Amino acid sequence: MRAIKLAVPFMALILGLLFLVVGCGGGGGNNGDDDAADDDAADDDAADDDAADDDTEQGCVEGDFNPYWGDLHAHTSYSDGEETPADAFAYARDVGQLDIMVVTDHLEQLYLPFPTTNKWEKCHEQADAAYEPGTYLTDCGFEYGSGFILPLFQSTGHNNVFFSADLFPMIQLDFHDFYNSLAQCAACIGQFNHPGDSDHQNWNNFEYFADVDENMNLFEFNGDGPTWDMFFEALDVGWHVSPMNNQDNHSADWGAKNEDRSGFYLADLTREDLYNAMKDRRSFMSYDKDASIKMMANTKCWMGSIIKSYQTQTVSLAVEVFDGDGDGYATIELYGPGKMLLDSADCGGQDTCSAQFDEDVLSPTYFVARANQTDGDFLVSAPIWIEP
Ligand SMILES: [Zn+2]
Ligand SMILES: [Zn+2]
Repeated sequence: MRAIKLAVPFMALILGLLFLVVGCGGGGGNNGDDDAADDDAADDDAADDDAADDDTEQGCVEGDFNPYWGDLHAHTSYSDGEETPADAFAYARDVGQLDIMVVTDHLEQLYLPFPTTNKWEKCHEQADAAYEPGTYLTDCGFEYGSGFILPLFQSTGHNNVFFSADLFPMIQLDFHDFYNSLAQCAACIGQFNHPGDSDHQNWNNFEYFADVDENMNLFEFNGDGPTWDMFFEALDVGWHVSPMNNQDNHSADWGAKNEDRSGFYLADLTREDLYNAMKDRRSFMSYDKDASIKMMANTKCWMGSIIKSYQTQTVSLAVEVFDGDGDGYATIELYGPGKMLLDSADCGGQDTCSAQFDEDVLSPTYFVARANQTDGDFLVSAPIWIEP
């Protein structure tokens, strides 16, 4: 797919220049949250944060959540894939057997042909038609081919954007411009897509910006890069991101291309709950289609929490893993900054396994759990951060 990945940004550049020449500035920027559902979701999230009381560490996210599995990076003929979003939603539900399907066509191609046929609006109409709250969750985002190294048009990284009311401007040659768009969209959630897919797709070695970090919450493990290593590179410079594993479909095989799954712990299978889970980084990645991993701190703080206290000097991390069709686990491992292995537990090949790790906290830090299955598949939890 490398040829496509190079061709798309190059074509985008040419067409974008044309766009500018004819005097149309492109999308008009994102106007933030004129979507009522987004507003509600944001309010819920604020309520979560306010829920902290005297017994609860600030930043500890509590709640009753269940795992759901999805594919949140996929293309259709609206960019360089096949068929329509409606086909993708039906296929991912009926054949892929997913709970969550989000179509994310390439931003620049959603603007084409010019003048626009409004594929963005059409995708949302098809997502709304397929959406069954509580049963099947559908939505549309877009993929931005963020930044280019000129004059060779090598991309510095791709990013998916979720929960944006509007398309971002079509062309932003430098990924810092894209970051500005993301930071200005209060309702948007960003994702690092297939890190390391080519040599320069590392966003200038994960150059850190605190205002962008507010919205950049997700990190894909799918792709050709050494994503397990790169995940820690991103965490070590300060990004607060949680793992995803999507299929990046370019054929009509949504949900069925492989067993890669992005998992979310949700109160219910609704867009509002998905938004809250993304906002609170309550995701996991899996190479097994029906496996789950969760990690809790001090029995009540969900993975993804950024706990603003380390006064106790120890934290108890409980990890639970499960597989729906009998694949067994070999080990559960706990990692910290620098990809340092801190602890591990033997699962003896069982399809459910749990471990508790009591760790010293001497300085601001984070923890990531990884579960290894006996067949070589693995799962990665969202981190739990402990900060001043
Ligand atoms: Zn991409
Ligand atoms: Zn893609």
